Amino acid sequence: MDKQAMKDKFYQYIKNTPQKANGFRITTERYTQLISDVKFAKSAQKKENRHFWLLKHYDTVYVGNVDKLIAPIADEKVLYYVTVEELFEVLYETHLSIGHGGRDRMKKELNLCFKNITAQDIQTFLNNCEVCLKKRANEKKGLVVKPMVFSHFNSRCQVDLIDFQSQPDDNYKFILVYQDHLTKFVILRALKNKTADEVADQLLQIFLLFGAPSILQSDNGREFVNHVIDDLKGLWPELKIVHGKPRHSQSQGSVERANQDIENILTAWMQHNQTSNWSRGLGYVQFMKNRALHAGIKRSPYEARFGQPAKVGLTSSSLPHEVLSSINSEEDLENILKNINCNEESVQEIPRVEVIAEEDLDLESDNVQTNCATPNVMEV
Ligand SMILES: [Zn+2]
Repeated sequence: MDKQAMKDKFYQYIKNTPQKANGFRITTERYTQLISDVKFAKSAQKKENRHFWLLKHYDTVYVGNVDKLIAPIADEKVLYYVTVEELFEVLYETHLSIGHGGRDRMKKELNLCFKNITAQDIQTFLNNCEVCLKKRANEKKGLVVKPMVFSHFNSRCQVDLIDFQSQPDDNYKFILVYQDHLTKFVILRALKNKTADEVADQLLQIFLLFGAPSILQSDNGREFVNHVIDDLKGLWPELKIVHGKPRHSQSQGSVERANQDIENILTAWMQHNQTSNWSRGLGYVQFMKNRALHAGIKRSPYEARFGQPAKVGLTSSSLPHEVLSSINSEEDLENILKNINCNEESVQEIPRVEVIAEEDLDLESDNVQTNCATPNVMEV
């Protein structure tokens, strides 16, 4: 299914699930209205209940000549309201950026930026993604892998090769998959041959950048790993690394699935970019894997490795997308930041009014932001 078909189906669903009295969806028209209402409420000398209600749920930020509707800022986090019309595009971009990530990954990623995207909307979007449906059908069921316990002494990495000889990219025929077991951080490299020498060369580069673990394991056989370790010793005499014990069939399954996942994401990347040049796609796939939530460690591998979420330049900032396109220099950026007008103080001063509490009771339990009050869009 192409993107347009997916989009049509998604909006068909939107049309068929009418807005509840207490809904999350905001049409562009409503959005514009809310912005002017909230701005008025902010400036009103004598505030009425309705003004307090508005300011409890909304704020506006003026950034790069655009007014954006946001949730009142808490913990310096800017969360945007997204309009129904923008919703599909937001879901689609996020979904691709984390390599067709599933529901939890999507939630985690969207929670960083948006206030009003529901789990149901995410699920419906996912149900229409053919790449994901295919992936799900291929998954082996019933394999539960227990997390392994690590210490300083058994930091370990897994090195495997994915065979791409059936679709060589120039001289590249294999993918080296390196994974650090503790953080799940993945590094991918294109290989011309699957010789121990070439693998050792790549590992050396990785180790010199990130440091080396104590144990090296692979599904490519003991002899192969020993050869790699010998090569490494020649290249870096200081390094002492040992061969890992043969693993349980359980973790074997998890590695197979991880490699299958990489293949699937790469295939989707090639389809999306209409290219067979997969060696170029590896870096993107690597980043998608590392920035997405990993269920086993409850954070992204990138966060586990570096202690902070992965950044994509200004795209990761809280500046809205349409503003980003107008920024081309540091001067532009300074101007935008100087002119951001978001009156935080006025929001903090607003007393909690009991009249509005009632309207917050009807929370949808699977709302992405379960810890936040829900705007009653229809009643404003
Ligand atoms: Zn997908």
